[in-house]
Amino acid sequence: MKSLSRRIFIKQSGILATAIVMPLSYHSILNKTEMSDKELFDVIIIGGSYSGLAAAMALGRALRKVLIIDSGKPCNRQTPFSHNFLTQDGKTPKEIATLAKQQVAVYNTVELYNDLVIHVSKTQNGFRIQTSSEAIFSASKLVFATGIKDEMPDIKGFSECWGISVLHCPYCHGYEVKNETTAIMGNGDYGFEFAKLISNWTKDLTLLTNGKSSLNTAQTESLARNGIEVVEKEIEELESVNGQLQSIIFKDGTKKIIKAIYTRLPFEQHCQLPEQLGCELTKDGYIKIDTSHKTTINGIYACGDNVTRLRTVANAVAMGTTAGMMVNKELVEEKFTIKNN
Ligand SMILES: Cc1cc2nc3c(=O)[nH]c(=O)nc-3n(C[C@H](O)[C@H](O)[C@H](O)COP(=O)(O)OP(=O)(O)OC[C@H]3O[C@@H](n4cnc5c(N)ncnc54)[C@H](O)[C@@H]3O)c2cc1C
Repeated sequence: MKSLSRRIFIKQSGILATAIVMPLSYHSILNKTEMSDKELFDVIIIGGSYSGLAAAMALGRALRKVLIIDSGKPCNRQTPFSHNFLTQDGKTPKEIATLAKQQVAVYNTVELYNDLVIHVSKTQNGFRIQTSSEAIFSASKLVFATGIKDEMPDIKGFSECWGISVLHCPYCHGYEVKNETTAIMGNGDYGFEFAKLISNWTKDLTLLTNGKSSLNTAQTESLARNGIEVVEKEIEELESVNGQLQSIIFKDGTKKIIKAIYTRLPFEQHCQLPEQLGCELTKDGYIKIDTSHKTTINGIYACGDNVTRLRTVANAVAMGTTAGMMVNKELVEEKFTIKNN
């Protein structure tokens, strides 16, 4: 990695990065018609967490000039330990990201810029990016590795427990709370299927439908046969100490001791720019991609949580690697097509 970029990586400071990468004033940048080499990239990756960094490594190793722009808000930032990613099991999310950044920083064609991308426009040769600190960059291809944002329910104390004792995935955190007094927050088919899955990790299980149950008769009977209680009372509050759940208080004033909850929250795309650029979303709200990670807009790729329900660090990394390789392949193909025409 170039010495200038290395400083950006190591300091992780938006201010320093702004001073180094963008020495020009806002107006001079907006009035500019041509970019300097420093601001022109083969690929800009928006989102520099696990998936974006994996894409950057593949592209850096393919000798591409790459800029990663990251606003520093990965979805797992509140979780104390990350599990089920081979070689990094039990590390903090930050430790994994820091090691990833150090390894990507080895490649001198890759730069990291700490900022929020707020605007993207299509140009004749690619895309023009503007950040919240008014920096402007251009690239032939874009990769969105921007993740998703979980929407917290309106339950007092819920967000304090998110990722600590209120969990999204048993493969990530189930082993640590095995055999605990556990609940599923969910209803209908989704609540039923989630309760069945979690019964693998604990027999002390309750399904909280948080209002009238929409389970069908067969599902209700199946849960009863398997010793899973269904509670329809509405939830008022989660009582916790440092994010560790102690009990649930219901709206009728009663209380139930529960040590862990699993739930899948509604979400929105962390970054709305792909949609604004015309990228189609699936009916579930993910960015639509093909097997090469191409979105429905030419030159724009997406990878990580923003394209899939299978939400793990390992999967985000795998998708980022594939997306990086596919972007490079397209750039190679384009060069040959232009030369041969
Ligand atoms: C609470 C919780 C706990 C988890 N625990 C585990 C676990 O133990 N094990 C496991 O394998 N998985 C776990 N996961 C899943 C895992 O964290 C995700 O699958 C993974 O973080 C996805 O990586 P990503 O790079 O796609 O997105 P993210 O990690 O969410 O990163 C997206 C990045 O894009 C940036 N960004 C967004 N918009 C912009 C923009 N406009 N400009 C610049 N930057 C932008 C964000 O700031 C962020 O840094 C957990 C998830 C949650 C929510």
